[in-house]
Amino acid sequence: MSIHAEVFDVIIVGGGHAGAEAASASARLGANTLLLTGNIDLIGQMSCNPAIGGLAKGHLVKEIDALDGIMGRMTDEAGIQFRMLNASKGPAVRGPRAQADRKLYRHAVQRELFGTPNLTIRQAEVTDVIPAPEGQSDEGAQLTVTTNSGWVFKAASVVLTTGTFLRGLIHIGTSQSTNGRLGEPASLKLADTLKTLKFRVGRLKTGTPPRLDTRTIDYSKLAEQPGDFPPLPFSTLTTAITQTQLPCHITYTNEATHAVIKANLHRSPMYSGQISGTGPRYCPSIEDKVVRFADKENHQIFLEPEGYDSLEVYPNGISTSLPIDVQHALLATIPGLEKAQVLRPGYAIEYDYVDPTELFPSLETKKIPGLFLAGQINGTTGYEEAAAQGLMAGLNAGLKAQGKGPFVLSRSEAYIGVLIDDLTTKGTSEPYRMFTSRAEYRLMLRADNADLRLTQKGMAIGCITHRRQSAFAQRLSDVNAALELAKATKVHPSSTLGKLTAELAGSYRDSLSAFDVLKRPQLGLHLLTAHLPEIAALPAHALEQVEIEAKYDGYLQRQESDANRLRADEALEIPTSLDFAKVGGLSIEVTQKLNHFRPTTLAAASQISGITPAALTALWVALKKGAEEARLRKNPVLEA
Ligand code: FAD
Repeated sequence: MSIHAEVFDVIIVGGGHAGAEAASASARLGANTLLLTGNIDLIGQMSCNPAIGGLAKGHLVKEIDALDGIMGRMTDEAGIQFRMLNASKGPAVRGPRAQADRKLYRHAVQRELFGTPNLTIRQAEVTDVIPAPEGQSDEGAQLTVTTNSGWVFKAASVVLTTGTFLRGLIHIGTSQSTNGRLGEPASLKLADTLKTLKFRVGRLKTGTPPRLDTRTIDYSKLAEQPGDFPPLPFSTLTTAITQTQLPCHITYTNEATHAVIKANLHRSPMYSGQISGTGPRYCPSIEDKVVRFADKENHQIFLEPEGYDSLEVYPNGISTSLPIDVQHALLATIPGLEKAQVLRPGYAIEYDYVDPTELFPSLETKKIPGLFLAGQINGTTGYEEAAAQGLMAGLNAGLKAQGKGPFVLSRSEAYIGVLIDDLTTKGTSEPYRMFTSRAEYRLMLRADNADLRLTQKGMAIGCITHRRQSAFAQRLSDVNAALELAKATKVHPSSTLGKLTAELAGSYRDSLSAFDVLKRPQLGLHLLTAHLPEIAALPAHALEQVEIEAKYDGYLQRQESDANRLRADEALEIPTSLDFAKVGGLSIEVTQKLNHFRPTTLAAASQISGITPAALTALWVALKKGAEEARLRKNPVLEA
């Protein structure tokens, strides 16, 4: 007897950050979409810290928003503290970040998805994905999805976004349990399926700190950290953040904390050999920090409230898998936490991931047509990296089901392009997170212009809702009009503004445009708006773009020519004698990887995962300098 299967265009497996974006994106395209997830109540769950954004991650959220994804809007609704990181630095490296009320965030995502047209949501654990034998697909539905409850579904495209659940194994001291997250079952059968389908599968690890009872923390000893005022929203569709904002608090580990950890290292699954998976380099556990940075006297801890009506506090900075008695003992040494009660223990989790070089840039697998992978399953870490991939996989799954070509963003168009290009061309052997240094075009790929870079591309494939289309049309016309006016408005040397310009930034003879005046680093927008009423009358968001474009004008050209020169010199040989530790500007990670792989050319170095464009430039400068010194040594007469 054949089992009846409901047919969809696209099936998304998993309701985490990748799954939520994928489901929304596919449905926005008009594809009949099904979201299957282990627990409907936990759709949109933040597995670790209750925060979205940060350096480079904030850029990803802005780009997701520009393509009408949901993460930015949901954070605006649930945010309890908004901060712009790197606010004193240039616009390209500023990182918007917000802490969210964990429960409100989850509810916002669930409300959004349940209200999305073309989207059906069902609770079931997916156990298998079966490709149809060649030539036998049912009305184009070439993949069959089976579940633990006996439900069977078919679709043209399937997106797996199973996060840390594939053969998830939790460690707290010596105790181990098979879970996808604390309290949720691991996905074992689907993990077997991926092996049966002959995907290259590896093992990674991540961890989380104990959650503390706020009533047992002594805040009188701690420094308060307020958010920005006014809080700036992520989404261009949010006009203002109106909900009450909450402060965080800061404390530090100390010698006594480190002594407790060192004395118990043998009981840490990380150091006893119990954990084999590789952990996130830039989000290490506290035991890892104490060992790796042995000369550091303390480590900062941010105490982040989990929400308005939550008793839980997330101590950001002390992720650990030490046994529970050691977790208590180390907390007792930290100012303000001496009497802190643990509501949930910290833990580490190991899980399977698929080598992302198994994927096309559309995130479709090379082995199984119509099967897409997105999120932590591809070796990344972080909500934003997961959501960005979910968005792209959802769009491409929908496009494929509609018989259309893939939607791929290049490295010069978006951080999303950098992320997917890095993953699919270089793979990763440790949890991958985004950094601004990974993008060679970071001056162009700013958080402030994500919509100007991407929304029209989204409109071209049909994933932008009417509301955003009309808001964007207004924004684009404001920005273009402002740029035009700034370039057309002349500042005569004899005018008051002309004299001020000469005084502050050097004299000039012919009239300059207002845009050219702004290019001078000494002169800011306020000077222009004080003297040119027609410029002062422009909307603030458009003026911001005029100022940034003007200030970055020369740098953008230099960035382009640097990238071109680097490409032209790819064949440059790296001498075997080169000591990478002596090359200025290389991080410890880059130096370790270069030493490990010992690439023989610049092109070979560029293929190593973790070797950023910034590192390549530093290496290139060192090689050029070395070549020049060698040339001079051969022809000493040239030196004169
Ligand atoms: P998840 O958010 O894990 O969602 C997976 C979804 O798939 C869930 O809804 C689950 O129910 C569903 N699912 C799984 N299997 C099946 C199945 N067979 N059938 C149906 N549904 C299924 N990130 C950081 O940036 N820094 C950190 O320090 C950090 N620490 C972490 C610590 C822990 C303990 C954990 C668990 C995660 C941590 N993360 C951290 C990672 C972060 O949570 C993930 O990167 C992010 O949530 C990944 O999103 P995702 O959508 O890929 O997967």
